[in-house]
Amino acid sequence: MVDAGSAACFGPSLGQVESNLRASGYSPEDVDTVLMTHLHPDHVCGITNESGEAVYPNAELRASQADADFWLDEERAAALPEADRAFFDMAQKAVAPYQESGRFKPFTEGDEVLTGIVAQDTHGHTVGHSSFMLTSDDDAMLVWGDVVHSYGVQFADPTVAIEFDSDPEQAVRTREDVLESAVDDKHWVAGAHMPFPGIGHIVENEEGYQWLPIEFAPLATDE
Ligand SMILES: [Zn+2]
Repeated sequence: MVDAGSAACFGPSLGQVESNLRASGYSPEDVDTVLMTHLHPDHVCGITNESGEAVYPNAELRASQADADFWLDEERAAALPEADRAFFDMAQKAVAPYQESGRFKPFTEGDEVLTGIVAQDTHGHTVGHSSFMLTSDDDAMLVWGDVVHSYGVQFADPTVAIEFDSDPEQAVRTREDVLESAVDDKHWVAGAHMPFPGIGHIVENEEGYQWLPIEFAPLATDE
């Protein structure tokens, strides 16, 4: 699994990842690895329930060393004004049961985190924001986390940053680089904030870039 959603961190209308996973025929126990693009609450809260128990009891949790060093640093959080601590607190609470059971394993950019899955440095949105390039035979898909937040704005103008970016200028440079390679290499892209079903290609037009979503249809079956 890549990222785990916000669970209860953002109100009662969210938190559907676990039920959607079950609806797809899997149980949380089946998940052996959770890869994190970054440790913002809307990606990480879903790994742990409100009682502080791991939602994925058999999974190793992997996040970049840089994001772990930043968001899990209790001293850094304690030095901030109360209002700025929320993201740190939520990340630390979510990661805690995995750390306590020795299942939190940070990675470094460029690591092959699982067979055919390489962590790619896409920092800027957070200090250790990462994307995962999945390759199999001739096909490739980049799971890019928050490289683009607003497809309505940032494809047409990738230089627009979002308030949540740790380093807005670097986030813009990263977005421009990633979009250019996605056009050149024609690989698939999966993004956390893209419209359903969240998978597509990137093309270039006179105005800038454009999101070309995959066609969503029932899978063919022999049954
Ligand atoms: Zn984010």
